[in-house]
Amino acid sequence: MQRGFEKDYHELLLSLIPRDLLSSVRLEGIIDALAHNERSTMIKEAYLSMEELCAKGVFIKKGFRKSGAGVFFDYEGAGDQTRFTLEMTKIEWGQLPSERMDDERKEIVPGVIAGIISSLSINSARSVGSKISSMLSLSPRIVANTKAFLILDTRLNILGTHSVTNIFEISFDNIKKNQLYKKVLKNKAVIFVSEPLGMKKSFFELSGDVKRLVLIPLIFSDREIGVLEIHFSSDVEISKNILFNLYLVGEGIIRLLKNNIQLEQMVSVDKLTCVNNRNYYETQVPLELERASRDKKFLGFLIMDIDHFKEFNDKYGHDTGDEVLKLVAQTVKRHLRKIDLFIRFGGEEFIAVLPGASKEAAMRTAERLRNVIENTEYKVEDGRELSITISIGGSIFPLDAKNQSELFRNADKSLLKAKRNGRNKVVFF
Ligand code: GH3
Ligand code: MG
Ligand code: MG
Repeated sequence: MQRGFEKDYHELLLSLIPRDLLSSVRLEGIIDALAHNERSTMIKEAYLSMEELCAKGVFIKKGFRKSGAGVFFDYEGAGDQTRFTLEMTKIEWGQLPSERMDDERKEIVPGVIAGIISSLSINSARSVGSKISSMLSLSPRIVANTKAFLILDTRLNILGTHSVTNIFEISFDNIKKNQLYKKVLKNKAVIFVSEPLGMKKSFFELSGDVKRLVLIPLIFSDREIGVLEIHFSSDVEISKNILFNLYLVGEGIIRLLKNNIQLEQMVSVDKLTCVNNRNYYETQVPLELERASRDKKFLGFLIMDIDHFKEFNDKYGHDTGDEVLKLVAQTVKRHLRKIDLFIRFGGEEFIAVLPGASKEAAMRTAERLRNVIENTEYKVEDGRELSITISIGGSIFPLDAKNQSELFRNADKSLLKAKRNGRNKVVFF
């Protein structure tokens, strides 16, 4: 077995490469390179010759790798055990003719695909931001001197309280105010921006050396979710390969977000009562508050708790208790508007959030719910009819509270009063 680790290209061209199998063009190239004894030309000729021999099936390219400052191509003879490696610096590799794009693609695409595949696993909402960040970091690997940024619809609420410098959450109303972003989403196509005027409109601060932008729309099932923005700080030609790989990064991000949206739906519904659960409360109520605050609207907040439910359980058993919980949840939900949020907060406590409801409106709604439950009868197997009642505490944003925790606290205090006042009551803060 012959094995070489070739640094000496003169030796390689002279004796290792089977010249009798090469085309006349390659042969002439090799002879020329040997005559001039110039390293970069010899590397180029060695590389092109090996490409030709691989294409002819004489050699098999076993690998392409980058390590430190070096780039390595491993070859193995198809018919014998000959093996050798072309070793060169990254700069020398960068000077190879355009065929090297194939190697670059072979290396990068699996990396991007791996990113997409890993994104298919279940993610907790908070880990999504960091996963997206790592997908954005593929950009400089696909093409040097680039940096990727992402603008996302604020409703996705991916980042939560985390801050990530290259991801920006902004409402779509505001995204559309920017001509550049409006255009990329409307056209559903990649756009290039090379004039500095357009670049000034980026949401991200552009460092002085940014020469071009590529914008990729992120859309799935007609839902616009964001824009992927790549900043180029060199004049490299944006080839099809580069674009394809950048596009794959966008695809990966879309899949990640799509999975996450589906996952959130899966985890935001309470199994027993089929109404939303506390996860939903934690992700959606802040958004409702933000909206109310922005639109200068009221937001009604009700906490309701089934009266003497423990006794109920003790008397009739846990299964009956469960049935009553379902009945109460479904009854209340039916008597709320579509835009209201209704959540099983825990045990036999529920929360209703009423966008736009003034104190009077919220009190009317609460009273109606209390009344409906009081008049709902639950039939036990032996035919007896049990009456159920609930107590409700309410507070209103922004009259009673400035934020979510205050809203909750004040509504909860009111609920306690309702219980102390004899239950089956509505009390507002
Ligand atoms: P109060 O009028 O003061 O609210 O009295 P209560 O008995 O309802 O008070 P408490 O909140 O202490 O009791 C709640 C009970 O709800 C305790 C628990 O056994 C019951 N419970 C909580 N979750 C479930 C459930 O999923 N199924 C059933 N069957 N019971 C539950
Ligand atoms: Mg309770
Ligand atoms: Mg109770």
